[in-house]
Amino acid sequence: MKQTPFGTMPDGTAVDLFTFDNTNGSRLAVTNYGGIITSLLVRDRAGNLGDVVLGFDSLTGYLERSPYFGAIVGRYANRISEGRFALDGATYRLERNDGPHHLHGGIRGFDKAVWAAEPFENARGRGLVLRHVSPDGDEGYLGTLTAEVRYLFTDADELVVEYEATTDAPTPVNLTQHSYFNLAGGGDILGHELMLAADAFTPVDSTLIPTGEFAPVAGTPFDFRVLTPIGARIGARDRQLEYAGGYDHTFVLRGGPGAALRQAAQVVEPSTGRTLDVSTTEPGLHFYSGNFLDGTVTGKGGRVYHHRTGFSLETQHYPDSPNQPQFPSTILRPGERYLSRTVFAFSVTSPV
Ligand code: BGC
Repeated sequence: MKQTPFGTMPDGTAVDLFTFDNTNGSRLAVTNYGGIITSLLVRDRAGNLGDVVLGFDSLTGYLERSPYFGAIVGRYANRISEGRFALDGATYRLERNDGPHHLHGGIRGFDKAVWAAEPFENARGRGLVLRHVSPDGDEGYLGTLTAEVRYLFTDADELVVEYEATTDAPTPVNLTQHSYFNLAGGGDILGHELMLAADAFTPVDSTLIPTGEFAPVAGTPFDFRVLTPIGARIGARDRQLEYAGGYDHTFVLRGGPGAALRQAAQVVEPSTGRTLDVSTTEPGLHFYSGNFLDGTVTGKGGRVYHHRTGFSLETQHYPDSPNQPQFPSTILRPGERYLSRTVFAFSVTSPV
């Protein structure tokens, strides 16, 4: 583990970068600003290390123009319609930062907090424990929420992310990890092959709020039940794809809420052989195909992030659950413990 200065916040708070090497020579770098994963170096089938996540070289990039690259998102990943919900007879108003809606925890969500960080090592690997206390009223949310996120980087090239939270008043909680991956290390992601363990997804309206239905994927461009290139149907004439400018939808994972850790997704990048397997305890997986990347952001090493040059696989509950009674509840109450676990496992496949 190496701890180095990464930059200074406008208020003078120092932010660090924590770098972890495993026994394969793979390397994970995390900053305690937003719990952001800034780089992740894994080998391709020829043994060459490559950085598979989008990001910036210094804190400044993250402060000025990051579309949630690599960050922990909270209190609530994705959208809450009109930044409003009712709970126990009261109506709560949240900050609106996405047109009329509340997105990814609001104006200053967990991605913009400086977390307390503590490196650790155990028999499986090494990593970082991050802690953040979100005060009562933060972005409009009720209750003091105490959150902990643990990143464990194993010698088997797994990144295990564990989330825990407690509260002193009822509040919605839906935490996720917002890394943008590109397993080729550059270029667009349309040739990456994707499998999603989902028979249904949550269709949205034109502002990306779920309609409340679970729509079968069969016969639609949302059918990723077998490995399919991301780009194979992304330009199809389909209302859902048109609303989002591509994929920006939550998939209903088999097993439902309260499931044990099970496979949610696999991604294979054919030219490098790099493969990513995602497992989670969450009921949903939000697949975002980098539709809002438009070449205006320059990232690490001067690389310009053009349209669809990164994708996210965000394990979470369904968007807008506080307003959707038929969706599994995201309300955490005093005395309860929010627990969530996701594993991103990297490997290589041989050519077919
Ligand atoms: C959302 C997108 C959003 C992106 C970056 C994704 O999780 O679903 O709509 O543009 O994050 O903010």
